[in-house]
Amino acid sequence: MKIGIVGMGLIGGSLALEFGDRGHEIWGVSRKESTCEAAIAQNVVSHASTELSSLSEVELVVLCPPIPAVLPTLEKLVQVLAPEAIVTDVASVKAPIVAKATELWPNFVGGHPMAGTTESGLQAAHRGLFTGASYVLTPISSTSPRAIEGVRSLLATLDVDLLSATPEAHDIAVAAISHAPVFVSASAIAAASSISDEATLKLAQMLASSGFRDTSRIGGGNSELGTAMAKFNREEVLRSLQIYRDCLNDCIAWIDREDWDSLRDFLDDQKQSRSDFVV
Ligand code: NAP
Repeated sequence: MKIGIVGMGLIGGSLALEFGDRGHEIWGVSRKESTCEAAIAQNVVSHASTELSSLSEVELVVLCPPIPAVLPTLEKLVQVLAPEAIVTDVASVKAPIVAKATELWPNFVGGHPMAGTTESGLQAAHRGLFTGASYVLTPISSTSPRAIEGVRSLLATLDVDLLSATPEAHDIAVAAISHAPVFVSASAIAAASSISDEATLKLAQMLASSGFRDTSRIGGGNSELGTAMAKFNREEVLRSLQIYRDCLNDCIAWIDREDWDSLRDFLDDQKQSRSDFVV
């Protein structure tokens, strides 16, 4: 199959590698000529261009640019695509994209692979990024069944756990488990970095090991992506962060008044809840 990948960064480049390994012909598009040259040199794609018009003959396109660029890119892409081409995206936010994208292109199906790293750009792309990860599709009532089947059958060849959800349910769920935690994690980094004595700060840095690495990982990632998650999923991210703030306020109050029983009960409840989220 001829597959177009727009935005050859971490996700687009990693998908290109996986699809290429499965015998598909990959046509990459990026803004920068240097990215196109690197993608060809590294055998990430078979063809690369800065022009969307290069995708006029592909059968399926995966839109992988930053979230704010998905709809503007699709608006330009629809002018050059073959009428039967299927389009999907990988954006981390779905509701503001899916309805408009489906209006622009009836063969559009929203998608979101639940995999990533703190790195970005083509140099961060690698094989195996999606192995064992969930990959959620977010069709709506007007989504073409042929488009759903086309995307589903392509993704079924990857070792992913394919799920389906409404765009709205997706955005609520990812606000809680992915988007809001970015800001909590970033705040943990800010708190640790606020130690004012230089020698003590150095000591803290030397003592930081797996616990702090886990806690700080997502807060120390792609700032453009974190900002776009908050901007495009604003209500749900705010709702989730307000719950965090309430929980932190409870913890502060319990510690302040030495109410160790309430603090322990809270931690026991969360220990129990964690097993529902992390298998
Ligand atoms: P990334 O590594 O920064 O890759 C995005 C690529 O898109 C860049 O390498 C850039 O290449 C190109 N690009 C930038 N602006 C563009 C524009 N205006 N038009 C067209 N292309 C543009 O980011 P990413 O992490 O792969 O994220 C891409 C998408 O995947 C986002 O929609 C994000 O929500 C989604 N996603 C990310 C993760 C994650 O954890 N990172 C997980 C799941 C889904 P050039 O500079 O060469 O154009």
